Amino acid sequence: MFRSVLRFAAVAVLVCPGPSAGAKEPVAKQVILISVDGMTPAEYEQADAHGLRIPNIRALMRSGCASPGMMGVFPASTYPSHTSMITGQPPAVHGVISNTPMDPFNLEFGGWFYYAEKIKTPTLWQALHAAHLKTAAVSWPVTVGADVDYLLPEYRPVRTEEDVALMRVLSTPGLFREMQQQNSTARPMSDAWRTDAVLAILRTRRPSLLALHLSELDEAQHKYGPHAAESHEELERIDSEIGKIRSYVDQSGRARETAWILVSDHGFLPVTKLFHPLVALRDAGLIATDKNGRLVDWKVYQRNLTGSVFFEAKDPADHASIEKATEVLRKLAVDPANGIGHIYTPQELKALGADPMAFLAMDPVKDFGFGSNLTGPLVTESASKGAHGYNPQIPEMHPSFILSGAGVSRCSEVEGVTIEDVGPTAAALLGAAIPGAEGRDARNPQK
Ligand SMILES: [Zn+2]
Repeated sequence: MFRSVLRFAAVAVLVCPGPSAGAKEPVAKQVILISVDGMTPAEYEQADAHGLRIPNIRALMRSGCASPGMMGVFPASTYPSHTSMITGQPPAVHGVISNTPMDPFNLEFGGWFYYAEKIKTPTLWQALHAAHLKTAAVSWPVTVGADVDYLLPEYRPVRTEEDVALMRVLSTPGLFREMQQQNSTARPMSDAWRTDAVLAILRTRRPSLLALHLSELDEAQHKYGPHAAESHEELERIDSEIGKIRSYVDQSGRARETAWILVSDHGFLPVTKLFHPLVALRDAGLIATDKNGRLVDWKVYQRNLTGSVFFEAKDPADHASIEKATEVLRKLAVDPANGIGHIYTPQELKALGADPMAFLAMDPVKDFGFGSNLTGPLVTESASKGAHGYNPQIPEMHPSFILSGAGVSRCSEVEGVTIEDVGPTAAALLGAAIPGAEGRDARNPQK
């Protein structure tokens, strides 16, 4: 309800005329969807003020429509957000409620929700297939095993020969090896490698949709903080990668039939301190550790996204532990030194379309995030300087959205776009629709 109210309260300032969501007339033959992980709209809206040289992103913005920030999802994290884009649904509906499964003992060895089978609702890839169109995805999250024609999925960090061998198997047969043969200098799956792969796929496969996820800005912002000089240098490098794709499209003679959707999955906030809820839950007897401080048992545990934290009970019927944990956390929230901003009830989480399994969630005040220590002080310094995962209504969390090219009339600004509108917009540009999507064609948000 929270999100719905916001959705309809937002005013479409100037939207581009075009067919309504679900229209069958394609207006583009090729859609290039690029997600620059963690890019805030402030980067393109205030590039000059930041001394940021991003001519390619600015050119897409000037020739099309740019949003001052989409409404994202809760948590404002990479996998839930990317999945909301390609399903047009909030996390509670599409099923990818977090980056990782609840795994207190790390039995999954840090595994994320890599697999497309986790997605419960129809995807953009499936919708385009139904319309007999070809798709390509390069490092798009939650695509291992996805119904994509030319697939180089996102999986664990590619560091070893074995990682490379595994990527060959997870990708469309032959495709990863083919890309390796023409990308001899860039590190496999680095942003530069992904861009070279995109150029090769556009040249040799000509998919109707090409989705690319670039992740190195996110890494820089976690390490150095949002708007840090190092983060800006990374974005400038990414802009030059986008420039290579723009140049190729121009040279290929397909510029007039190509639509561009440039997005991010979430924004970023600086973080200096971490509050560690598990320390308090352990003190309350809800988590047991051995003499070395290692976890041996738990009644309630957390799923930590730094900018928010969600709590689940091992036994959802264990009301005593749920009540005790709630009491402990609510008491700690009263002390400003702990940096707890808001405590979410299951009803609030439901209204936000977030994790339906959590009995409680919290977000922090600014400068704070959440940590996962089991022992030691409740509050520590943060090793990372930037974080996300916060409530998507915080302006700094808003993801980017720029729409340009075929089927898009020039306009100054679009407002009221949500992250669930990304996939439906891509589908509509190609004359298709994602069945049951809550999101709409951003060119015509009244529908
Ligand atoms: Zn991300």
